[in-house]
Amino acid sequence: MVKTPYFFSSLKASLIIVSLLFLWACAESPSYIKLQGAIFGTTFHITYKDPSTGVSKDIILADVQARLSELDLIFSTYKQESEISRFNRLAVINTVEVSHVQQSENALLVSNDFIQVLDLSRHIYQSSNHAFNPAIGPLVELWGFGPKVTIKNFTSIPDKAAIRQALRLIDFNAVQNQGQLVYKSSAVKIDFSAVAKGYAVDQIAQLLQDFNIEHFMVEIGGELVTAGDNASATAWKIGVEKPDALVGTVSDVLALHTAALATSGDYRNFFELDGRRYSHTIDPRTGYPVAHHLASVTVITDSSAAADAWATALMVLGEEEGLALAEKFKLSSLFIIRQADEYTAIQVANFSQYMQ
Ligand code: AMP
Ligand code: MG
Repeated sequence: MVKTPYFFSSLKASLIIVSLLFLWACAESPSYIKLQGAIFGTTFHITYKDPSTGVSKDIILADVQARLSELDLIFSTYKQESEISRFNRLAVINTVEVSHVQQSENALLVSNDFIQVLDLSRHIYQSSNHAFNPAIGPLVELWGFGPKVTIKNFTSIPDKAAIRQALRLIDFNAVQNQGQLVYKSSAVKIDFSAVAKGYAVDQIAQLLQDFNIEHFMVEIGGELVTAGDNASATAWKIGVEKPDALVGTVSDVLALHTAALATSGDYRNFFELDGRRYSHTIDPRTGYPVAHHLASVTVITDSSAAADAWATALMVLGEEEGLALAEKFKLSSLFIIRQADEYTAIQVANFSQYMQ
């Protein structure tokens, strides 16, 4: 573990931005092609080296957009007809039906993508002692971060009874499946927002590889995958955007060849009430938005979906338990901790190898 302290004064919490900014405009090369667009309420950017197979950029962009729309129709909690919304509307299955799931109206046939994300989520749910919990849906809604309520309308925080009630509905083990048929053994709603963007990045990386593209960078809303080299025939350079006071205190640029990276932070989506910040990361143990000193966690691992889910899990667990878990699973990660006016960056599991 490598610890770097920073000291500075009067930086307002709301000014803190510790997100990853890939270096979009770096080194131009005619054989490197750029694509961009919008999806999942955010943007995507792709840079790839033309494999000279004669496939045009337009064809690739059309395929990327089609694949992303397909994933949106599976994972969007904003779309009534998405697989996830349909699952959320399912009634609880009874024990007799479980033995005849094929015939039950209370089971839903979902895509392989849904099952992949469900399996990975179960794994990280277990490994993180349930800190990462996609059954958090009712609490996300209650706190105004879901599709129905908007945080902008909040004048007070939800009442304790409502939080207690929602806490009874977050058993992720109640999401069950037999093959691609999913059902619920108790009332539960899922929200894959903490992992689906990362999964989509992996899927687009796979799509590019299927076109024989070996050198690329794919980014959706801050989660990304890199492979091979950039246009300068060196590692992809990923800029770490930080508040002015922190610039220059930790290396600002990460150098990645083949890697997947994701960040969770309390600055991405939050509201402030009576001087307190309420972020969109909910602690399933308390039912409240996390209340610790972690400003962000960045995880680098072999899949963007896993990096995404782990970053959220560590963000829930906070600077002590999160660090211990990252050490235990040897997750290459960067924790940025904010305490009053003091900031500390902690690198775990050889994260410094990625620093320029
Ligand atoms: P991320 O930016 O990947 O950390 O994802 C944050 C989103 O995940 C939130 O907007 C919620 O929709 C959802 N979420 C909040 N808390 C949790 C949690 N404890 N486990 C899983 N997903 C969560
Ligand atoms: Mg995440």
